[in-house]
Amino acid sequence: MPAKPSPASWFGTTVKPDSAAALSLVVSESYLGTDVTVPVHVWRGKAEGPTVCITAAVHGDEINGTGAIRHIIRHRPFHLSAGTLVLVPVVNVFGFDRHTRYLPDRRDLNRSFPGSSGGSLAGRFARLFLDKITRRCEFGIDLHTASLRRTNFPNVRADLSDERLAGFARAFGAELIVKNKGPKGSLREQACKLGCATLILEAGEVWKVESSVVEYAVRGITNCLRHLNMVEGKPREPGYRVETDATHWVRAKHGGFLEFHVAPGDIVGRDEPIATNTDLAGGQSLSVIRAPRDGIVLGMTTIPCVAPGDPVCHLAYPSRGAMPKIERAVHRMRDDSLHERIRDDLARNVRVIEPKDHDAD
Ligand SMILES: [Zn+2]
Repeated sequence: MPAKPSPASWFGTTVKPDSAAALSLVVSESYLGTDVTVPVHVWRGKAEGPTVCITAAVHGDEINGTGAIRHIIRHRPFHLSAGTLVLVPVVNVFGFDRHTRYLPDRRDLNRSFPGSSGGSLAGRFARLFLDKITRRCEFGIDLHTASLRRTNFPNVRADLSDERLAGFARAFGAELIVKNKGPKGSLREQACKLGCATLILEAGEVWKVESSVVEYAVRGITNCLRHLNMVEGKPREPGYRVETDATHWVRAKHGGFLEFHVAPGDIVGRDEPIATNTDLAGGQSLSVIRAPRDGIVLGMTTIPCVAPGDPVCHLAYPSRGAMPKIERAVHRMRDDSLHERIRDDLARNVRVIEPKDHDAD
């Protein structure tokens, strides 16, 4: 990979070591003919070090990460002693402005990378962002949430076959890492190709800033910066670690109204009930939806009304034989640990009730 350019100048502004600057990157023009700008905060430590980019709201409605970056900018939870930190609280300013995932041309920015300078609105935006920011960074953390009507237990997604990225991703301290390269055209897929080793965090829901999700993201970012010696201290180890490329959406067989029996982050055994699909009054069980294998609830629907084929529960499958160790680790966790608090918080988005002795299938 070619050496990265000096982090001293950003969009024509000089940022000296041991200082910070709030900048704007012009990315497009509005229907009114005015500039459309993306706010970018650049922090530089006193010593030299890597350049790391933290991005949020590439999907304009996924603003938990925006909350996390705002928290970092306002409260400075760590001292940056080395390197450069580039903070972008909202990448997709068009979607953010309209509470939507997409751009005004109805394209998904996170499927439009690398784009081109002569392409569509999405393509031009993607290309400019890569050229002006991503290309200049060695590492990236892109913050996402589940899509509409779903929630995710926090999980990191990264290509662990890249050794440099694997160390960075493990340092984040997430219990769950899904091993993959990311969808074609996504920021992280293209960033990695440009030598910017990028992971994503998937946590919580759209349209919300959830306090424990913000805490989880800020802790993970701090851990990653510690790993790169940009911030003092050692990264904190998670209570358990699952690294898997085996995940599966369990889907509804029938239309109806779900009674959930699990919440995000829960451990489920093979054949255990995930949800019971009932008639509207709740008296008649139409189907019991069960876990096909031992797994951990990575994400789930928050809307209980389903049609056949609708996704109900996204399970992560640890390697065979790993479950007893994970169960013991969770059992040892204190109620006030972040893992348990985030489980409690996310469980409030679904009504979890004990399964009855329904035997319909
Ligand atoms: Zn997203």
